[in-house]
Amino acid sequence: MFFHIQKLINPIAADEPDPAAANILQEGLGGQFGEMRTMMQYLFQSFNARGDAKPFKDLIQGVGIEEISHVELITTTINMLLDGSAQSPGKTPKGKARKAAVPGSGGSTPLDVALIAPNTHHFIVAPQCALPVDAAGNPWNGSYVYASGNLVLDLMYNLMLESTGRLQKCRIYEMSDNKALRSTVSYLIARDHAHELAFAKALESLGVNWGKVLPIPNFDATQYPEVKKLMDLGVHRTQHHFRLDDSEMGKIFRGSSPANDGFEIETTEEPPEGAPVTALPERPEEFAPGLTPELMEMVAAVRDFK
Ligand code: MN
Ligand code: MN
Repeated sequence: MFFHIQKLINPIAADEPDPAAANILQEGLGGQFGEMRTMMQYLFQSFNARGDAKPFKDLIQGVGIEEISHVELITTTINMLLDGSAQSPGKTPKGKARKAAVPGSGGSTPLDVALIAPNTHHFIVAPQCALPVDAAGNPWNGSYVYASGNLVLDLMYNLMLESTGRLQKCRIYEMSDNKALRSTVSYLIARDHAHELAFAKALESLGVNWGKVLPIPNFDATQYPEVKKLMDLGVHRTQHHFRLDDSEMGKIFRGSSPANDGFEIETTEEPPEGAPVTALPERPEEFAPGLTPELMEMVAAVRDFK
């Protein structure tokens, strides 16, 4: 079973709403190499694990549990970038200055930002919020999940998945200088790096000699200042096991880094510090949450129940 703490795994920097930045982040959420895929792939691999290889199951599951928090973080970031974009300053699709969201005022309509947004479903299907789709609008697909039941094959695929996830997030970083997008993408780049090391270390403990077999994908993300700051803190060399009972993840994720950079890697019992979750405001133009004064009274009665 799983428990939950109402905190984000990492803080999100504040910046202006930006539907285009929100949309490119959708690839990191619902794309083939996105957070929904890593979450489901590692959870399925751990649920389906056979035989007596507890440290390996614990490592895969521990990373899978962390990925749930990554889904939460990137979804929340997309929401921040979409929320309020209908009211943000700038030009309307008709070239007039955007006004307050009053229908027909100066040619501006409450949701006309959707006409120039990359995915209108963010405004029609969702209330200026994230969707379980990729950046091209394709729905997330369960057949992305690779869980063969063969431990070595699963670990190899997981290493490739993390490396490709990091590659794509580096490309996304280069597409936008929005601070909210960059803070989340940088954190996820550093954590993908940690997970690459986790699966590489697991394969190393099964006899793989990385120096002789394959170079670990080593494209350098320290050129991005936000990523460098996190890596200087060692965010990519620590693994949290996210368990209330005993995890044997630390039997694998310890000792010298498989990146052969002279650093040590370590598993810690302590969860990350986390950051507060802020409630999204009401959006009357989306009828969300759509509570009339009468319904709001009933909500208040439930909320104030002692
Ligand atoms: Mn992740
Ligand atoms: Mn990962």
